[in-house]
Amino acid sequence: MMRQDKIIAIDGPAGSGKSTLGRRLAERLAYLYFDTGVMYRVVTFVALARGLDVYDETLITALAEQIRIDVQPPSVQDGRENDIIVDGADVTWDIRKPDVDARVSIVAAYPGVRKALGTQQRRVGLRGRVVMVGRDIGTVILPDADVKIYLDASAEERARRRYQERCARGETADYDEILLSIQARDELDSNRAVSPLRPAEDAIHLNSDDLDIEQVLEKATALAV
Ligand code: C5P
Repeated sequence: MMRQDKIIAIDGPAGSGKSTLGRRLAERLAYLYFDTGVMYRVVTFVALARGLDVYDETLITALAEQIRIDVQPPSVQDGRENDIIVDGADVTWDIRKPDVDARVSIVAAYPGVRKALGTQQRRVGLRGRVVMVGRDIGTVILPDADVKIYLDASAEERARRRYQERCARGETADYDEILLSIQARDELDSNRAVSPLRPAEDAIHLNSDDLDIEQVLEKATALAV
């Protein structure tokens, strides 16, 4: 008999396919899908929109502590998973733009930011029936998760996917620029002092270089049931 209230943690670097996997797996299991990267992206986007200095840790931490992020069912069928609303404004695509990509890892390295956002993530996660996706879910946010998956792929493959996503949305994209941005983000995310990107000791490693999304999904489903 399948236990139906599991906590599933998926971690991995930018563009490894963890969002697609997380969304599809949650759909299959009728679980909540929670992409924690959205929260770090929203704080970064709002900081930039307000002209705040992202290197001012005190200011950015205060912003993370007071911000209200609403995640709602998609109101538009344009490939989005959810509407991401802040102060009444739809920022769903704004938080995916290159200027946010370039600065989100700076914001995500601040311990106070991680504490504020992590507390909210943990509260949702501990209810169970959730697929939570990020960098530190299996290691820090939900160390007792029932299933931990670490999804990886080469930087070149991950950049290629990001490039195609951007083109599909009609945005201009430059492959070399995306590759450099992904490598810079990997570097910052893996080397920060607090909650660096790394697999939990008990995580199952999957590599999406040689597996397509359906194959990754089959493997993850087998682990999850
Ligand atoms: O997953 P995504 O690429 O949208 O995440 C954006 C950034 O947010 C990451 O590069 C990382 O700096 C940060 N992040 C994090 N911890 C998480 C999720 C995202 O530090 N759990």
